Amino acid sequence: MSTLDTDLDAIVRPVIADGLELTRARTAAVGDMSVRRLLPLRLRRSVGAWCFIDHYGPMSVDGVTGMAVPPHPHIGLQTVTWLMAGNVLHRDSLGSEQMIRPGQLNLMTAGRGIAHAEESPAAHDPLLHGVQLWVALPDASRLTEPDFEHHAELPVARVGGLAITVLLGSLAGPPGAPALRSPATTFSDIVGAELAAATDVRERIALEPTFEHVVFVTSGAASVAGTELAPGSLLYLPPGRDILTVMASPGTAAMLLGGVPLGERLLMWWNFVARTPPEIAAAVAGWQQGMFGEVGGYAGPPLAPPPLDAARLARRARVAG
Ligand code: MN
Repeated sequence: MSTLDTDLDAIVRPVIADGLELTRARTAAVGDMSVRRLLPLRLRRSVGAWCFIDHYGPMSVDGVTGMAVPPHPHIGLQTVTWLMAGNVLHRDSLGSEQMIRPGQLNLMTAGRGIAHAEESPAAHDPLLHGVQLWVALPDASRLTEPDFEHHAELPVARVGGLAITVLLGSLAGPPGAPALRSPATTFSDIVGAELAAATDVRERIALEPTFEHVVFVTSGAASVAGTELAPGSLLYLPPGRDILTVMASPGTAAMLLGGVPLGERLLMWWNFVARTPPEIAAAVAGWQQGMFGEVGGYAGPPLAPPPLDAARLARRARVAG
């Protein structure tokens, strides 16, 4: 997954009401896979610390390669892998090797630098459906040591017919119940949760009012804060809201991501989240010189970085926010 093919300039930011914004995904390619890229937007690089959202599938990978993302580097972010169907194998330059399945979290903290590969294993499930998310590390934490975590068990609350799984950070629970907190490591005030409707749902979820949020549907259809959502749409909600109304039919699933506005100027290029063009250039050179370490077990060459377009990078740095 990378920001290489992101045509940021093509994206508009329509405001629908009350500061809500509804935007459409653009189609991007990750290897042979077509994905819905929902973030970044030209005028909104991050929501809380969330700075990248890809949604792919559901797609049949029966009898074909499936996901095949060769070894590639990251700096300055955490990658969040979450599946709704299928299985994916993660390997990284720390020596981690971890299969992930629906309901589990793979969280990789790149910090000062890590490399990884993600692929459908040789014998994989016939269906693949998931999201790949990035969380920007705040300036004070972005040179932290690289790390990898797998969480097979995450807190789940049931609010009426809605099952709420908290992947990252915390979310207020049902009235009278304590907040749900994920055991995963975070570096900013943040929430990442999946909302899954088992029945016809009409519920109100408590939000942290200092957070800004986005919601997107991964299956089915929902009305969220009075806005109809289907896969491929992203709804942004500014800070100041303490309730989210959710109406959904059985089988619908959505992701709720949010956090305190980051207030830092991110510069994203390829798989790197940095602040300045020289940092990006140093990361590209480091990858070319083998400074990120080896990722074992992947049958194929690592990804080559795109040509460093200094003018485009400088332009992106000027509008970074
Ligand atoms: Mn990656």
